[in-house]
Amino acid sequence: GDPCQVLLPVPRHAGCQGHVHRRRHRPRRAEGPDECDPLGRRRAQGRRPQDLPVRAEGEEVAGPYLWGRYDLLLLPPSFPYGGMENPCLTFVTPTLLAGDRSLANVVAHEIAHSWFGNLITNVTWEHFWLNEGWTVFMERKILGRVYGEKTLQFHAAMGYVDLREAVDSIGRDHGFTRLVPDLSGGLDPDDAFSKVPYEKGFYFLYYLQGLVGVEDFEAFMKDYVQRFKFETVSSEEFKAFFTAYFTSRTELEAVDWDVWLYSPGLPPVENSYDHTLADASMNLAKSWHTCDIMGIGGEPPKAASPSDLDGWSSLQVVLFLDKLGEFRSMTPLSPVITRKMNEFYKLDDSNNTEIRCSWYLLCIKAGDETVLPKVTNLLREQGRMKFLRPLYRALFRSEATKQLALETFADLRDTYHPIASKMLSSDLGFS
Ligand SMILES: [Zn+2]
Repeated sequence: GDPCQVLLPVPRHAGCQGHVHRRRHRPRRAEGPDECDPLGRRRAQGRRPQDLPVRAEGEEVAGPYLWGRYDLLLLPPSFPYGGMENPCLTFVTPTLLAGDRSLANVVAHEIAHSWFGNLITNVTWEHFWLNEGWTVFMERKILGRVYGEKTLQFHAAMGYVDLREAVDSIGRDHGFTRLVPDLSGGLDPDDAFSKVPYEKGFYFLYYLQGLVGVEDFEAFMKDYVQRFKFETVSSEEFKAFFTAYFTSRTELEAVDWDVWLYSPGLPPVENSYDHTLADASMNLAKSWHTCDIMGIGGEPPKAASPSDLDGWSSLQVVLFLDKLGEFRSMTPLSPVITRKMNEFYKLDDSNNTEIRCSWYLLCIKAGDETVLPKVTNLLREQGRMKFLRPLYRALFRSEATKQLALETFADLRDTYHPIASKMLSSDLGFS
């Protein structure tokens, strides 16, 4: 599913998991390309997996793509998730069409599920990290091959930020922050859902890779797929296969499997990542922050220029805006400053929904009324929970825009997916 970037301990808020949770059975061995293609002759007209820019990298990382055909289906804008990884046919939100290829990570994530999740499936939802952690790991491997190592490192570092936020909001001692949560006694996997299996899973795999080396780990990855393809897998089976595979490696004696798999909280060991791309975002956020410390307006930073964001990925822009929002959590920016930022960076009408969402959040908090019609347009034109929920919450939280949130929701709720509508009702205090 969606490599959800904003993480809260709410069920299914932004990912593929709505689909995954309902699919209680692993893919059947008998399934092959023909079964995936009920339309027979039309198959030849479809997009071949080899046409997809990320497919070659996927095969390089994890071995042959075994599902024959691979298609992406753009769902209507009310689709409440980023993506869902049905075998052969991934569903995606139209908000991925930013026109700048900047959201390819979602496509990379979904195609990675062709190996992890769809080809090798977690035996129960307690082992969901074997679906999602591996998928995020492969997604970032693909990004690294397409965009370079710094991009991989940047996404990994951002993933750790997400993980920390998720663990803090769930509670560091809470069982749902274990890599393998205990769902015995009838706990609903949807209630346990969070960014933890995605990012703690990634973190663990990245740590293991660091111990044995990238080359050997990638060879292991392919052999793991060959060993468990068309089967289910548990964390203990993974551990047994991994430790047998690297049986002669003394550096693995340091791995405390019990703590990694079964202890709550943050991972026991810290990975280190390259921060070059994140630093650029942080520095720009600091400069805008310090030009308006009091929140009363003023001149833009002396060094700021309309070309500041040139060549940046959308995730870098989002980090810049989110960091600035974090710096201003107590004293919002003046709307004078947000208008100046827009003159510089033209953020009001960005084609990229991720950027627009983070930007509008900053403006709403700044009391910048110019953006409000644009915000309601965004709430009207798409129904992805990743954007709806934070925007509605931000509007609802401010006295000046609370009524706007309620009226807009009353007007639009029937156009949203029922799951989105339900989540928003609860966010806005209806239930
Ligand atoms: Zn996923």
